[in-house]
Amino acid sequence: MGKLFGTFGVRGIANEKITPEFALKMGMAFGTMLKREGRKRPLVVVGRDPRVSGEMLKEALISGLLSIGVDVINVGIAPTPAIQFACRYFRTDGGAVITASHNPPEYNGIKLLEPNGLGLKKEREAVVEELFFNENFDRAKWHDIGEIREEDIIRPYLDAIKSRVDMEAIKRRRPFVVVDTSNGAGSLTLPYLLRELGCKVVSVNAQPDGHFPARNPEPNEENLRSFMKIVKALGADFGVAQDGDADRAVFIDENGNFIQGDKTFALVVKAMLQENGGGLVVTTVATSHIIDELAKQYNGKVIKTKVGDLIVSRALLEHNGLVGGEENGGVIFPDFVLGRDGAMTTAKIVEIFAKSGKKFSELIDELPRFYQVKTKRHISGDRHAAVEKVAELAEQRGFRLDTTDGTKILFDDGWVLVRASGTEPIIRIFAEAKDEEKAEEYLSIGLELLKESLKV
Ligand code: MG
Repeated sequence: MGKLFGTFGVRGIANEKITPEFALKMGMAFGTMLKREGRKRPLVVVGRDPRVSGEMLKEALISGLLSIGVDVINVGIAPTPAIQFACRYFRTDGGAVITASHNPPEYNGIKLLEPNGLGLKKEREAVVEELFFNENFDRAKWHDIGEIREEDIIRPYLDAIKSRVDMEAIKRRRPFVVVDTSNGAGSLTLPYLLRELGCKVVSVNAQPDGHFPARNPEPNEENLRSFMKIVKALGADFGVAQDGDADRAVFIDENGNFIQGDKTFALVVKAMLQENGGGLVVTTVATSHIIDELAKQYNGKVIKTKVGDLIVSRALLEHNGLVGGEENGGVIFPDFVLGRDGAMTTAKIVEIFAKSGKKFSELIDELPRFYQVKTKRHISGDRHAAVEKVAELAEQRGFRLDTTDGTKILFDDGWVLVRASGTEPIIRIFAEAKDEEKAEEYLSIGLELLKESLKV
């Protein structure tokens, strides 16, 4: 039997892999599972990002659900975290999001959600897969076909975020924020949220457009070059940029510098540990040890998982964590939404900024200092075997190891991670240390072991 789901949902080129027939069958498979689990009349919320293929796929998926006898709430275009929020808000039996996150415009995908908004559990994914491939669907009789209703989730989602931050403090400082929502789903939420919080806002690329005419929706430094200039030229306090489905938020300081995702994550961790007198933080093995250092300072504990936001979210739920995040600028507030949430992250950062009275760059400078170096190597052979071989060689040399995901060698003042990409023929090597020279040294240890592992 084939495999449908990747780390979180299924993704591919629209109208090639992700066709209306595909979405229809996905709806039928998901609906059949819910019915067989004993729910008489399951309720599922469905929404999408603004991709060109989104409406076509959403309607097909809804058709599939209705034909099984599932009722549907259609929330239209909304950020992925808002749709996750809608699962709890409408007390549904699950959800479905049509999105390809930060991928180029020709892509689309489907994410299925649990009643609490978390990505579907592995065991239930396997059930959907089986039903999908065997086309083993329980069609409803004509009089049991599901019903559909339209609902707005944007307003309840924004109100819920506003209730979670100190709006008085924000209004007092009135930060000047420039927003780039990449013509994605965040165009419908982030500029409005910031204005309602009491910020002065200038927004760019803030009309939803599935062609993504302004920039590639992935919010990395390369794609944000002109935005970084805009933030500086306007004299803003800082800038914030999102990806296509608005689960991520990436920040630019007042000087136009790109801030690495784990640093903004660290700002949130620091504030939340202080506010709560400690707590459990969940992150991945690829995230900066700034987080570990902050946990030591503020009575926190850290769990490190494999890379992937769904894995971090699951661990947060399982261990009752306070906050989670990844190095790419996704922060998870598990008591709000069990997934990365760009708008909630931004609101929290705005609050931290407003209360501090400092410049954005000063807040970043106050964090424990670490230097990171990253590189990658193209590998034609078995990249996973190579990474395992690196672990073997490192062990022979007496290094301390963490093999949660890839091979991570731990030093007293830093680390190097050698990790195979899940999707591309690439091995990534990340190193971090207290000074630049050491970081380079650890990187070269990783590279040297990788080279040796490829020889045999
Ligand atoms: Mg995304």
